[in-house]
Amino acid sequence: MNVMTPSDRSVVAPLEEGFSGQVLLPGDDGFETARRVHNGMIDRHPAVIAQCIVNADVRDALAFAIEHNLEVAVRSGGHNVAGRAVGDDGMMIDLGLMKGTWVDPKRRRVRVQAGVNWGEFNRATQLQGLATTGGAVSSTGVAGLTLGGGFGFLSGKCGYTIDALRSVELVTAAGDVVQASEEENAELFWGLRGGGGNFGVATGFEFDLHAIGPTVHGGMIAYPFDEAGEMLRFYRGLTHDLADEFTVLAGLTHGRDEPRTKLAAIVPCHCGAPDAATACLEEIKSFANPVLDNLGPLPYSAMNQIFDAGVPKLDLYYWKSCFIEELSDEVIALLVEQFANCPSRRTKIFVEHFHGAVLRQAPSAMAFPHRDAGYSILIITQWTDPADNDRNIAWARRTYDLLAPHSREGAYTNYMDDDEGTARVHQAFGDNFPRLQALKNRYDPDNLFYRNQNIPPSK
Ligand SMILES: Cc1cc2nc3c(=O)[nH]c(=O)nc-3n(C[C@H](O)[C@H](O)[C@H](O)COP(=O)(O)OP(=O)(O)OC[C@H]3O[C@@H](n4cnc5c(N)ncnc54)[C@H](O)[C@@H]3O)c2cc1C
Repeated sequence: MNVMTPSDRSVVAPLEEGFSGQVLLPGDDGFETARRVHNGMIDRHPAVIAQCIVNADVRDALAFAIEHNLEVAVRSGGHNVAGRAVGDDGMMIDLGLMKGTWVDPKRRRVRVQAGVNWGEFNRATQLQGLATTGGAVSSTGVAGLTLGGGFGFLSGKCGYTIDALRSVELVTAAGDVVQASEEENAELFWGLRGGGGNFGVATGFEFDLHAIGPTVHGGMIAYPFDEAGEMLRFYRGLTHDLADEFTVLAGLTHGRDEPRTKLAAIVPCHCGAPDAATACLEEIKSFANPVLDNLGPLPYSAMNQIFDAGVPKLDLYYWKSCFIEELSDEVIALLVEQFANCPSRRTKIFVEHFHGAVLRQAPSAMAFPHRDAGYSILIITQWTDPADNDRNIAWARRTYDLLAPHSREGAYTNYMDDDEGTARVHQAFGDNFPRLQALKNRYDPDNLFYRNQNIPPSK
C-alpha cells in the first residue's frame, strides 16, 4: 500500500488537475479538522483527504484510490461512532462540502447533497413548514443516517427516514453515476434503504416531506433518579397506546450541574394538532413532580437540537445497543441498577420506542428489516479522560451482556461500535442478507467499500 506524506504532492497532482473540491495532505490547512470525526476515540490519519464537490470529484478520487491501492473511507456527517468514515493511511472521501439543498414545496419534496446534516436539512425544509424523520442531533449527517435506516422524533408519523426516501444518486466502484429509485435500478434502491455504504458513494438524496412544524409540542421533563424505575414503568404504559403523531423517548441521564446529578427523563415530540398535543403532554406532566420541565410548544428544529449540547464532538464515546420487545420489570431494574453504577457522569441510556408508521412496511420491503413494535436500548457511554477508557467500555459491555437474555435478534447498524463483527452485521439484516450480498456481488465485487458495517461479497 502506498503511504503518502506531504512531500507526495506530486503524486496527487494528477488528481488535483480539474478537481472542483480540495485534495488535502497531512500538514495542509483543514486536514486536521477534516480527519477528526465526532467520536474522540477515533484518531486516525488518512494519507489523503479528497473533499469532493461534484460527482466527477468522487469518481476521480475513487479511481485514484484504486490506482494507488489506498483503502477507501467515506465521510458525510462523521457521526458514525465506530469511526468508519476514516482510516489510517488511506483515502478519505469527504462529502462535507456538498451542501446543496433544493426544496419543492408544491411537490413536498426535497433534494439534498450528501454533506448536508439534519440541522441544515430542517432549516431548509422548515422554511416551508415541511419535515420528515431525521436525526435527533443536528450535526448528524443525512447520508449515513439514511443509508442505515434512520429513527427520529417523527418516526411514529412518517416512519423511518428511508420510508420517505424517493431516490439516491450514487457513484459506484466502477465510477458510474447511477440513479436509484422505485422506477430505476429498483433492486439497488431496495439495498440502499438500510444497506449502508456498501454499494457506492451516495452523493444526492431525494425525500418526500410532510406538513409538520414550524411548531411542534415536546421538550424534556426530568425527575430525580430515585424515581427512575417508576418513571420507566409509567413510560412503558404510555407507549402501549400512542397516536402516530406522538413519539416518545425515555432516558437515564446526567444533568449539566456539577457534580452532574443522575436524572430520569422523558423526551416527547407531538407533531399533531395543538389540542391533542397539549393533552398528551399533560398526561406526562401528571406522573410526578419534575426537577426540570420544559414541555410545551417549540420549533421542530429546536426539538432536534435538544441533545446537541450533551453530545459534543471529540468527547470519548463507546456505544452498545439492542432491540427489546417489552420493557419488563426485570429490564427496568437492570437498567436502573447499572446506571446507578456507571463510571462516567456524562453517560446516558436511551430507550427509543417503535410504533405507528414504522410498523406498516414488511421486513422485506427494504434492506432495513426492523418492523416490529418494541424498543431500542442505546447505551451511550461518554467520558473525557482516556485514562478512563477501559472501565467505561467494560461497564457498557457488561450492561449489554446483562440485557442480552431480554433482547431480540437483530441490531441497528448505525448504532454499532467497531467490535461487533460480521456475524452481528449479518444478524442485523436477518433474512435480507442474501439479497444484499447478491447486490454487493454486482456493484462492489472487490469490496472497495468495506469501511462500513460490511456485507462482504460472496465470491
Ligand atoms: C450524536 C449522535 C446522534 C445520533 N442520532 C441518531 C438519531 O437520532 N437517529 C438515528 O437513526 N441515528 C442516529 N445516530 C446514528 C447515526 O445514524 C450514524 O452515526 C450514522 O452513521 C451517521 O451518519 P453520518 O453521515 O454522520 O456518518 P459518517 O461517519 O460520515 O458515515 C458513516 C458511514 O456511513 C457510510 N456513508 C456515509 N455517508 C455516505 C455516503 N454519502 N455514501 C456512501 N456511504 C456513506 C460510510 O460507510 C461511513 O463510514 C446518531 C449518532 C450520533 C453520534
